[in-house]
Amino acid sequence: MSAPGALRPRPRPEIEALPRYSKAAGLEQVRWRASSNESTVAPSAAILEAVNLAASHSHLYPSLFGDTLIARLSDRLGVGDDQVLVGAGSLALLQQVLTAYTGPGTEVVYPWRSYEAYPILIGIAGASGVPVALDSQHRHNLSAMAAAVTPQTRAVLVCNPNNPTGSEFSTAEFVSFARSIPGDVLILLDEAYREFATSDVDGVDLLRAFPNIVVFRTFSKAYGLAGLRAGYAITNPAIAADLSSAAPPFGLSAVAEAAACAALTDPAHTDSIVETVTAGRAHLREQLAVRGVESVPSGANFVWIPLGERASALEAACVAQGVSVRMFPGEGVRVTVGERAAEDTVIAAVDALAHNL
Ligand code: PMP
Repeated sequence: MSAPGALRPRPRPEIEALPRYSKAAGLEQVRWRASSNESTVAPSAAILEAVNLAASHSHLYPSLFGDTLIARLSDRLGVGDDQVLVGAGSLALLQQVLTAYTGPGTEVVYPWRSYEAYPILIGIAGASGVPVALDSQHRHNLSAMAAAVTPQTRAVLVCNPNNPTGSEFSTAEFVSFARSIPGDVLILLDEAYREFATSDVDGVDLLRAFPNIVVFRTFSKAYGLAGLRAGYAITNPAIAADLSSAAPPFGLSAVAEAAACAALTDPAHTDSIVETVTAGRAHLREQLAVRGVESVPSGANFVWIPLGERASALEAACVAQGVSVRMFPGEGVRVTVGERAAEDTVIAAVDALAHNL
């Protein structure tokens, strides 16, 4: 055995330099979780039945690449089976794409502030991340993102609706952006919150005009299956074939696959999630507006309150009142909606701070 302080295995320097995923304050002690953009509706009886049945075969491997779910999704989306990939959450698929197409010496352009996993996954792939600031309306600055593309760029990531601001771009804005991106650069379109969106953007429709797009969607949000980890990507067959080569076999568990298939045939469940979210975000934004607190129009299951330096005060007040929220120091607070009591507790925290906000 080596002595303490002796040589030890070290990961690549990019891995040592990675930022850590952070967790919302008070998550373990609060009564309501409004910090992780989860659904507030539990799985339906039909989904649980499918989960139980699949779990009873847990001694067997699932299909190699999730063929049943791929068939259901391609049918529903009107694309070929050879255009869909499934995996353990859309994050796993994003990682697969970044690992297959980028790496040391290449660049990936991404919006910032956006989903915290982006710089981490870009770093794991060994590529250099090129963050492009949101505009003053908390929206993607698509022309600045296009201008940031260099000969080293292999991918441009866009998030619509954007996490954590909820902001959206329109199809017209996206199309003029996509036209300015070279055909050999991937456009990675993250549509994790699409089912809650108010914009008309549909990545699958756009694939016909722009074969360099990969669209990412998930069962974690509007289908309410975050704990099971199921997501999918849709792209053109040539890219899908290349990506399959980089896919881990058995990446989607049999239980996750069964639950996702059941969720696809249970529209009432998804509708109830989307309805609670739509009502919740209108309620929260309205109550904030009455109090003179600015929030950003949202196409997602959360609302962004751009408080700048006052963000940490609201976070502390929320935790004190029993609700966790997501705070980015110096920037703002993101509140997941869908549970009226949680939304009203955030409002109570705003009231408790009164004129200090
Ligand atoms: N993309 C965005 C923008 C997200 O906010 C999240 C989850 N917070 C994900 C992807 C990850 O989704 P999944 O659970 O499918 O990995």
